[in-house]
Amino acid sequence: MVVIDEQQTVPRILLATGQALWLEQVEAYLLESGYRVHTADNRGTATAIVQGQPVDAVLAPLTEESAVFFHELRQMRAPPLLMFLADEASVLSVDETWTGLADATILPDAMYLEQQLPALLHLHMENCSLKQRVTRLEASLRKQKRRVDEMAVLKNAIVRNVSHELRTPLLQVKSAVSLIGEDVEDEKLLTYARNATARLETHVKNITMLGSSLDIRPSPIILRDAVEYARRNLRRVWEHHDETDRIRPELAPNLPPVLADKQGLSTVLQLLLDNAIKFSEKEVEVLARQEGDTVQIVVRDYGIGIASDQLQAIFETFYQVDSSSTRRYGGAGVGLAIVNLILDNHDTTIYVESTPGEGSTFSFGLPVVDMSGVL
Ligand code: ADP
Repeated sequence: MVVIDEQQTVPRILLATGQALWLEQVEAYLLESGYRVHTADNRGTATAIVQGQPVDAVLAPLTEESAVFFHELRQMRAPPLLMFLADEASVLSVDETWTGLADATILPDAMYLEQQLPALLHLHMENCSLKQRVTRLEASLRKQKRRVDEMAVLKNAIVRNVSHELRTPLLQVKSAVSLIGEDVEDEKLLTYARNATARLETHVKNITMLGSSLDIRPSPIILRDAVEYARRNLRRVWEHHDETDRIRPELAPNLPPVLADKQGLSTVLQLLLDNAIKFSEKEVEVLARQEGDTVQIVVRDYGIGIASDQLQAIFETFYQVDSSSTRRYGGAGVGLAIVNLILDNHDTTIYVESTPGEGSTFSFGLPVVDMSGVL
């Protein structure tokens, strides 16, 4: 058995006394070619060499003992290049599983070795270094994934607690401000306090919406009910309740149920309708029709519209086309980011088309629930 060790600076040679006739010739070739060569005459010695110093390749005659040795080496984390040296007759006379243990089987001849060994060694080393990189990358990916998972748990806990913890004190401050308002003389201070609580309220509302939309539990939803529910909710929270009367649902008759999270879909519809009412004065349409195995839902307004170079950015968190928008229209620039997140969790995409001065159309698709199996 011959063990090639290209990396050691001090050559260590163990003499093999195996029966293979070609052993001397091979060893001579390897030494002439500048390899550091160790030889071993049995499996015990060979194992000790490999365990003592990492080697790059092991060359062995095709015998049962070598097969057992290669099998052991294959269990290593980074086994060396394993090569059987054998003629065709020997290859044919042994079990295929033996030859399968080696990376290559070549004739025990200096000419063949010269042709193949350097290239095989080169490939093997490249392969090893690639494997090492993959292992390192996998470890780093696992670490990153653990971090992301932990962050997600933390984020969910924060979002849920914050909205819960903020709502009660906010309500108390709001009531106090409105009570004080009856006696206070400084109107400016009162307006300041009212605006501040309104802004806080918007943020808490958004966090609450985000919190309730983190867990998506899809179930069959009747769209007509979902639109009605969103409209009623909006009417409850909108300052100018009557504005919600501008909403015109135009849903195709006999629409099949869609698969969606009830709370999530309601949040999406409320946020889109909220914007449509806010940024327009005419009627706001909610359209739905079946297209193949999805239902396309459209919220359309005939309001101020959005310039084409802004259409991407409006889905970013805290983005508002007009920086004075918060003051003029209210809002905080997170509604569409939440819409995007919820629909992304439904594996669907929100699209927008808009013409400044003419209006905007937001649309998305939801899968139809297959009721064929239901009696
Ligand atoms: P906001 O709370 O400010 O409405 P959104 O994330 O919902 O936040 O929307 C981001 C911005 O996109 C809005 O501030 C507005 O500039 C623009 N926008 C959204 N919907 C419409 C719409 N229907 N018409 C005109 N502009 C819109």
